[in-house]
Amino acid sequence: MSKLRFDVVQDAFKKKAVEIDTPATRPEDYFGCLTFNREKMYKYLDAKTYQALIDVIDNGMTLDLKTADKVAEGMKTWAMENGVTHVTHWFQPLTEGTAEKHDSFMEYDGKGGMVEEFTGKSLIQQEPDASSFPNGGIRATFEARGYTAWDPTSPVFIQDDTLCIPTVFISYTGDALDYKTPLKKALKAVNDAALPICRLFDPKVKKVYSYLGWEQEYFLVDEDLYAARPDLMLCGRTLMGHSSSKNQQLDDHYFGAIPSRVAAFMRDIEIAGYKLGIPLKTRHNEVAPNQFELAPIYGETNLSNDQNQMIMNVMNTIARKHGFVVLFHEKPFDGINGSGKHNNWSLGTDTGTLLLAPGKDAKGNLQFVTFFVNVLAAVQKYNGLLKASIATATNAHRLGANEAPPAIVSAFLGKTMTDVLKKLMDVPSDTPIEIAGKKGRSVGLVEIPEIFVDNTDRNRTSPFAFTGNRFEFRAVGSSANCAGAMTTLNAAVAEQLIEFKAAVDAEMASGKPCNVAIMDCLKPIIKSIINVVCFDGNGYSDEWKVEAAKRGLDVETNVPKMIKCFTEEKAVNMFTKLGIYSKVELEARNEVKWETYSKKVQIEARVMGRMATNHIIPAALEYQSKLLKNIKLMQTAFPEDYKDMVATQMDIVKEISRRVNDITVKVDAMIEARKAANKIEDEYEKALAYHEIAESLFAIRRPIDKLEEIVDNNTWPLPKYREILFIN
Ligand code: ADP
Ligand code: MG
Repeated sequence: MSKLRFDVVQDAFKKKAVEIDTPATRPEDYFGCLTFNREKMYKYLDAKTYQALIDVIDNGMTLDLKTADKVAEGMKTWAMENGVTHVTHWFQPLTEGTAEKHDSFMEYDGKGGMVEEFTGKSLIQQEPDASSFPNGGIRATFEARGYTAWDPTSPVFIQDDTLCIPTVFISYTGDALDYKTPLKKALKAVNDAALPICRLFDPKVKKVYSYLGWEQEYFLVDEDLYAARPDLMLCGRTLMGHSSSKNQQLDDHYFGAIPSRVAAFMRDIEIAGYKLGIPLKTRHNEVAPNQFELAPIYGETNLSNDQNQMIMNVMNTIARKHGFVVLFHEKPFDGINGSGKHNNWSLGTDTGTLLLAPGKDAKGNLQFVTFFVNVLAAVQKYNGLLKASIATATNAHRLGANEAPPAIVSAFLGKTMTDVLKKLMDVPSDTPIEIAGKKGRSVGLVEIPEIFVDNTDRNRTSPFAFTGNRFEFRAVGSSANCAGAMTTLNAAVAEQLIEFKAAVDAEMASGKPCNVAIMDCLKPIIKSIINVVCFDGNGYSDEWKVEAAKRGLDVETNVPKMIKCFTEEKAVNMFTKLGIYSKVELEARNEVKWETYSKKVQIEARVMGRMATNHIIPAALEYQSKLLKNIKLMQTAFPEDYKDMVATQMDIVKEISRRVNDITVKVDAMIEARKAANKIEDEYEKALAYHEIAESLFAIRRPIDKLEEIVDNNTWPLPKYREILFIN
């Protein structure tokens, strides 16, 4: 067994970069070639159908069945030219990852043969048996049908031999069973709320977009080493493992030279991503060994999120071609950084204005400050809910564990914007806000220094940081679907903007000019946020935990409890008023979250117990009997003074016994705790019980890692951190 471990490690080390098929043309030539984008629509649809479809996409018109038939026909022609034989509705259920069920185009032709067909009806809607997807009790099992419905705003794409249609997934009663449905509703809500405010500044604005630019962090491990670790295979993270002597302390991995095997993998992903129309831009080594990051150019939130889900699938597949497995888990290895998925988020208009960037003139700057302050007000009001939106069993290992992010949602503004806000509270409400350039400065203005625009300071300890033209929501987990966080954030901002507009209208009705009315409404908000949600200090410090609690921010660290925020009155009112979630949907989603939480911990606890019993204890005892045999031999060889000579060995023998007993007692207790937890019917109470079990896993791990430190390297059955993390 031990030999096997060495062989695997050596083989992994010797692996060379895989040769990849680099297309003969440049990325700009094949970008989007596997998506049914506007160019393809134009080519494969007649003029009338094309226009009708564009109206659906851009202006929210509905698609009639006749047009849908024509669209489907055009798509089929294009797909078949690309070797496609199957079609699937591609959706995002409340599990990790996406779902698809492939149907071939084959139909009877009525003459004894077959014909390949794709109708508008099957483009628009399908009825998958939804009973096996998480639904939180929304659908009783006798009503197993759910249905998927095409989301025309996200382009249809080809994956291998299959045409993939992005869809929403809802129950027969119309309740959302997926991530996409509420996200789309939240995006509509934020557009509806932001538009009237934008029109105060520019009546020509017709649409407000929410933008998302995700940064996907991940680990790569060699697939053979992965296969030798049951914890990685079943839980996506190591449940045990002594830290490597060298890990990230030299800061030599971050932005370091990308190892050749990894570079080949990254190039392969980029080629696949470009073909799917995903504008990948950045790739680099992350802080921890074997940790990397990938980021696209930001885009409209719904599309950008679909693309994140697509690329995660692509990464999983392509990794195997390169002999790797991708770990999207938030904390695969103890003692080194975990992985997140920073959600860079902003709002912008169809006229090209980014609403969270300073404007060109005083008016533009007032618009910027208006959106900036209202976003912060929304984050303040819903800081607990935003934390709940990223709270999962896996992300729990990052939250508050002295690395990004802390388990308190505060916002980092940077010195420039803090100063601007402070000044605005004191000056008359008609004071212009200028960007201070090289020109002379007039007295009485509130100024945003020009240098700020492209050079904002950074604070890596803040979960919600302003970075010059956007906010970076850093708390999102690397394995998460961004939609959970994006739905909540856009919804919270929408509600705040609606309330703000009403307040401004009331001020204007009393005769105030628009800019004065806006500033009069902003001032009390600034006063409130500057002392509560805004925090530029060290988000990991213990003082901040005390201070944040005093400020009234949510400091809960228990994930099942965090999730409760979604069914509190404040959240239910907000979501129902905006038409994003019904109360039933919110309750059902929480059930799903708690159930998933319990199941994940249950799986980890089982794996932990079995690895302790079947891998660790036998290895420790094997080494112990080796020592005892040697002690016996020493006694025979040196009957007089063997005792002194074997003192160290005796100590190790005793320590092994102590550790093994410790592990056994704790594993037994954990199994009993699981039995008790499994009897609990209520999903929330059960999740709370499993939370205790999750906490108890650390205590089992400690003696195991101690054993790894003392047991003969030849006997140790599992690939060690130092072997997994430094092979590329
Ligand atoms: P960092 O320095 O934070 O690691 P990266 O370059 O890795 O930055 O990623 C930044 C992400 O933010 C990219 O996806 C980028 O397209 C996105 N981004 C930039 N501007 C905006 C914006 N206004 N709104 C949303 N996302 C944005
Ligand atoms: Mg980055």
